Amino acid sequence: METRIETKCIHEGYKPQQGEPRQLPVYQSTTFSYNSSDFMGKLFDLEESGYFYTRLQNPTNDNVAAKICALEGGAAAMLTSSGQAANFFAIFNICEAGDHFIASSSIYGGTYNLFGVTLKKMGIECTFVEQDLSEEELSKYFKPNTKALFGETITNPTVKVLDIEKFARVAHSHGVPLIIDNTFATPINCRPFEWGADIVVHSTTKYMDGQGVGVGGCIVDSGNFDWMAHKDKFPGLTTPDESYHGITYAEKFGKGAFITKATAQLMRDFGAIQSPQNAFYLNLGLETLHIRIERHCANALKVAQFLEAHDKIEWVHYAGLENDKYHALAKKYLPNGTCGVLCFAVKGGRDESIKFMDKLKLATIATHVADAKTCLLHPASHTHRQLTDEQLLEAGISPDLIRFSVGIENADDLIADLKQALDN
Ligand SMILES: *Cc1c(COP(=O)(O)O)cnc(C)c1O
Repeated sequence: METRIETKCIHEGYKPQQGEPRQLPVYQSTTFSYNSSDFMGKLFDLEESGYFYTRLQNPTNDNVAAKICALEGGAAAMLTSSGQAANFFAIFNICEAGDHFIASSSIYGGTYNLFGVTLKKMGIECTFVEQDLSEEELSKYFKPNTKALFGETITNPTVKVLDIEKFARVAHSHGVPLIIDNTFATPINCRPFEWGADIVVHSTTKYMDGQGVGVGGCIVDSGNFDWMAHKDKFPGLTTPDESYHGITYAEKFGKGAFITKATAQLMRDFGAIQSPQNAFYLNLGLETLHIRIERHCANALKVAQFLEAHDKIEWVHYAGLENDKYHALAKKYLPNGTCGVLCFAVKGGRDESIKFMDKLKLATIATHVADAKTCLLHPASHTHRQLTDEQLLEAGISPDLIRFSVGIENADDLIADLKQALDN
């Protein structure tokens, strides 16, 4: 039966049969038993599908991945141990030493470092681009060895909204897939595949988990990118894998090729699996994602409007605000709301911002975003403290920027807290 997204949050993924547990069981097992040696051999050859070792796949994880896959409208999905692992796998599944890819410069700091520093050590080069550039300007960065384009639906921490269709057109005109990190929007508010993205990644640590319980990630493939049409660019998918008995993923697995390869090669070799227990918690989070996101957005808009009107506030960035630079893009891609994260600065610069933060009583200072409890962070003193003011500005983060993650408390209480901290 075709269902709406709220129903998918509850019923997709695990579908109990007659007499089976109603809630998703935790398959707390490293291994799976067989009584036929021949069948087990076929599993290893990917001739049969089934479980054999949790480093590669586990039924609890696969049920949760299937739910996220349904929410995004994808063809195949896998969980990873973290959002970082998801982003690493998404790139490394199609890029190898000597390859190049392009990413928006306004992305999460951890991803920026992974792409710019760690992948570079592996011989993969990333060019960071200003995401608001025109198609013509973006096209100039493509080279013959470019293999992917990457951006975030809503950027962390600067909460810019990406023009996904523009990015998809540029990527496809150069024969490469568009990879979108949809962590902040979640599939409740935006489904990037509907706008031309090919692969979606998530840090499930954020809204999907929603309670700050478990670190995790997910990769979803739309199955829409035609690897065989660009055979020479993606040999890992379009030529035989000698480490897997000569299987050619794109031929044998069709729409499941990308995820099968990432599981069979990358999960096998790097082992960045999510623990089944964490996948179980993630599933509980997903069951309430749709109602939490609605409240996060409603609260964040109220908080943004309060801050915008306050005379001690220098600026507020929240695409839900009508005069925000990204409001038009938000209306197009996120018509039901953006997310619960916003950023702002207190008049007086860096020092005043820090003094203000210490006066808050409800909102706590935490290296986290996007869960039920309101929290905040000053990137210049915390996550990005090794950078000089100049380097911060290069990364698009002004030294006075406060990232404020609005939770699902009563909005009036949050506003009262902000008010006392600003007015005292
Ligand atoms: C947090 C975050 C990540 C990294 O995820 P982890 O689960 O912390 O590894 C990646 N992308 C975005 C947008 C994030 O917010």
